[in-house]
Amino acid sequence: MKKDMELANEVIRISGANPIRCMKCGKCSASCPSFNEMEYAPHKFVDMVVHGRIEELMESKSIFHCLSCFACVERCPRGVEPAKIVEAIRVVKQRQIGENYLDANDIPAIVDEQIPQQALVSAFRKFKK
Ligand code: SF4
Ligand code: SF4
Repeated sequence: MKKDMELANEVIRISGANPIRCMKCGKCSASCPSFNEMEYAPHKFVDMVVHGRIEELMESKSIFHCLSCFACVERCPRGVEPAKIVEAIRVVKQRQIGENYLDANDIPAIVDEQIPQQALVSAFRKFKK
């Protein structure tokens, strides 16, 4: 349990968010465009961090399905900033595995010329350490 809470404190420190302020209203998840793709919706991320369940979140594909759109941040009436928590868990995960998920040399094989540049920039931010 101690290790779990140490990880949780690391996530809170990196994110700068305050999950304790959550009142479980669910507005963040109701506005999340990736809700159907995410095993854990944003309100669940917040709750699991409070309870030290970081390793479960780190193993979930949800951390890569988040679009970093910040809709959850905009909608939260308590200023919890769930997107920053998701981002912080992604960072902890990337540091732990110590390698990039995405190599620049792989890009031509996986995208077509119609892809928006923002998507590429976002992917590098999410999949590189
Ligand atoms: S930032 Fe991520 S978790 Fe928040 S609403 Fe957007 S996709 Fe969902
Ligand atoms: S919107 Fe904010 S207060 Fe409501 S469940 Fe999400 S994180 Fe908690």
